[in-house]
Amino acid sequence: MNKNTLVFAKNDWHEPLTNGKHIDYYGEEYVVIDESYTNNYGTFVLLQSTSPFEDDTSLWTVTKGIEAHPNNRYEFIKAISVPTFPNQMQAVGYLLKDKQSGESKAYSYREAFRIIHQNGATNAYATTSRLKNFTTQLIDTIDCLPAMDSTFWKVPAYNDNGEPYSVFTPALEKELKQRINTTINMRIGQRVRKLKSQITTSYTNEEITKLNELIKTANKITVLSGAGISTLSGIPDYRSMLEGIWRKDPDLIKQLNQAKFENSPASFWQTFHQLIQNITNGIVPFENHKNSLQMTIEAMKPNIAHELFAKLETHGKDVTIITQNVDHLHSKAGSKHVFEIHGNFYKYFCPTCMSKYTFEYILKDKLPKCGCGAIIRPDLVFFGDEVQHLSDAMARAKNSDLFIVIGSSLNVSPINQLPHFINQYTNAKSVIINGHKTQLDNQFDLVINGDIEDICKNISLS
Ligand SMILES: [Zn+2]
Repeated sequence: MNKNTLVFAKNDWHEPLTNGKHIDYYGEEYVVIDESYTNNYGTFVLLQSTSPFEDDTSLWTVTKGIEAHPNNRYEFIKAISVPTFPNQMQAVGYLLKDKQSGESKAYSYREAFRIIHQNGATNAYATTSRLKNFTTQLIDTIDCLPAMDSTFWKVPAYNDNGEPYSVFTPALEKELKQRINTTINMRIGQRVRKLKSQITTSYTNEEITKLNELIKTANKITVLSGAGISTLSGIPDYRSMLEGIWRKDPDLIKQLNQAKFENSPASFWQTFHQLIQNITNGIVPFENHKNSLQMTIEAMKPNIAHELFAKLETHGKDVTIITQNVDHLHSKAGSKHVFEIHGNFYKYFCPTCMSKYTFEYILKDKLPKCGCGAIIRPDLVFFGDEVQHLSDAMARAKNSDLFIVIGSSLNVSPINQLPHFINQYTNAKSVIINGHKTQLDNQFDLVINGDIEDICKNISLS
């Protein structure tokens, strides 16, 4: 084994590596000389450089730790990894086995470096390289093994049940959390870009000018928001998602109602946990890992549209928000008069003693129970339930001079009666802002179709 060779795991290359195949790896050309190169660790692919080896490390000051040796105390076992974007695994932690105690523990890179540098490992070594002010610390495996970043070493940090692969140090826990958060945010960004790319409608400058004029002259504004405003935050349309489940499995959705909650709470909650999975699916890096679920839900933050309506309030407008969304994002953005007519995904309560519970609390148990022993219920309006707070909201909205509907298709009752209410009982002007047309567009003074984010960016607050 020498510097001219590379050891790959079978999955390290995007196509099969058979003897004689030439590949370009980081600008160096290699040829496969043994497609089933076997040692104590497994069977790999052995490649040899076809260009003469050039030592490009001569400019560097290299400080080596203890050389790898079979008698050394530690053995590098696995690289603890987190899925990244789109589907690759990134190593975050390093599982080392202490041969003296027989124990295995996963460390952060910095911790693992220090341990291997000072104590040595059977199959890895640690070096510090300096070039002027630039220092790099590197742990690598011995030459007969795939490199540290090979798929061969990588294992998911948490298994399908959400349990950790091994004991993690606090430093590694912290780094895993950061990495999981990065992955969540990248995936939310991807989901939002995809949703935005599906919008085919567009608006005119004239429409924006009219909208700005209406907002400028209005003192009391009532806003009705629907799912279209929250998809910008990465939240899939809750109702259409439920309808999707409905089509696939009509029995499942029937469980999310008051009668089922009372008669068969266990199956109600099983369905509800399924709903949480559907919301976070494709974003959460580890499905049943509670911290990942919590982080995913928390990462769905208010966007420019929610912020706009909160800002209108700080600019002296009296703003009432009626929302069909259960994501609580208007309140998070700072709006003060928010009526969540379908409830709030973050609120849970005990129907017996009315104690309140958080989302975090209900994640802990398959069948979440109150301190008094009763089963907790989500504060959500399910199919068949009456909407909440609507008459209070309408009372507050009564003397509005501007109604804005944003991101709602106005296709569920009683919300679909709202345009009629506005025209019959108020003198308010009305605007509908949506990604697509609705059947009730002709009842509005101004219809603006297009990317809601772009439209909101064009609204001036001065
Ligand atoms: Zn209770």
